[in-house]
Amino acid sequence: MKSINRRKFLSISALAGAGAVVPQIIGRKAIAAPVDGAEKEIVTRQLGRTGMTIPILSMGVMKADNPAVVRAAYNAGLTHFDTAHGYQNGKNEEMLGVFFKDKDRSTFTVATKGKANLKSDNFEQEYEELLNTSLRRLQMDYVDIFYAHAIGDLGTVNNPRLIKMLKKFKDEGKVRHIGFSTHANKPAQIDEAIAAGIYEVCLVSYNFKLDILSELEAAIQRGVKAGMGFVAMKSMVGGVEDADAKSKVNGAACLRWVWKNPNITTAIPGFTSFDLLENCLEAAHSPKLGESDIKYLAGLKEKELLYCQNCGNCVKQCSKHLPIPDIMRAYMYNYGYKYPSLSKDTLTELAVANNACAGCEKCTVTRCSSGFNVASKIAAITPIVDVPSHFLA
Ligand code: SF4
Ligand code: SF4
Repeated sequence: MKSINRRKFLSISALAGAGAVVPQIIGRKAIAAPVDGAEKEIVTRQLGRTGMTIPILSMGVMKADNPAVVRAAYNAGLTHFDTAHGYQNGKNEEMLGVFFKDKDRSTFTVATKGKANLKSDNFEQEYEELLNTSLRRLQMDYVDIFYAHAIGDLGTVNNPRLIKMLKKFKDEGKVRHIGFSTHANKPAQIDEAIAAGIYEVCLVSYNFKLDILSELEAAIQRGVKAGMGFVAMKSMVGGVEDADAKSKVNGAACLRWVWKNPNITTAIPGFTSFDLLENCLEAAHSPKLGESDIKYLAGLKEKELLYCQNCGNCVKQCSKHLPIPDIMRAYMYNYGYKYPSLSKDTLTELAVANNACAGCEKCTVTRCSSGFNVASKIAAITPIVDVPSHFLA
């Protein structure tokens, strides 16, 4: 297999502007149009009962602010692009809107996500406005998937007010398929979603580090049987091994591990550069998990890394019951993803203060499934809430 390098990406990106290179979905294979005389195929899988068939590699647009990387991904045969209402304060959706404006709508699918503030008396009006704003930014009449974003508490996916609004969005044609995304209580969330009956897609954190793997995989299997499609996120466990970011995680091995589960339709790594895209494409063109991958991941499993299991055990141990799993996610966004604004937004939304542990003489969180010293990580990340947003990328 030949790799596609940055120079080649740039040249095919330029060609795409003239309409010379477009991906086509042919049968179950996504075929990237020839870039060097040879067609490159990426295996595709069906996404539950949605009728969508998409490549096993999709683009998590999340932090990408360079449309040339989106163009390179599109030209390389990727067809599914994942954003959210809140990413980059709306600029992420706007960038996709500009990029896809002149593209044939049948050559790509877009997912966006919106957080449902069910505590608000005006939830219905606010949620509708959120979706309308996203569609305006995307310059689209509809999104292919709309996810109720980052569902954490049980009893949310089956909340009647949320269900009513999601159904309304679909009935109005603004949303082709309804989904939810989750980091916490994953197996139970999936079972609630199956029972709710309206969810077609679940975006779920899924990686080789998970302690509850067999429980989660059994729930995913139940979801698949009920017709739900599964999209994997957090597959690269933060992207780097520690806060110094001296050692990068081998993303290709992580992706191959995810794809060995046929119940996962696609993964959405958030690549922001040509190098990262190339790394992911190499994996997608050679998706079988190899012996060297297995050995590498086994070695990594014993390391602490930045990924929080979201088991929630720490919250019970913490004398202040801080939302530690979310704080750990904010830590990963900053030190792993190098995305400080998302880190600050995550903490601000939860009203986590700078120095959230102040006044606590001795940390009572002594058992963390990821082996974290949570108090030191909280001290390292919460000062970001006081940094003016315009200083943060
Ligand atoms: S030090 Fe922080 S994390 Fe530990 S128990 Fe106190 S408030 Fe909770
Ligand atoms: S105990 Fe550790 S792994 Fe579990 S949620 Fe808390 S920080 Fe994350």
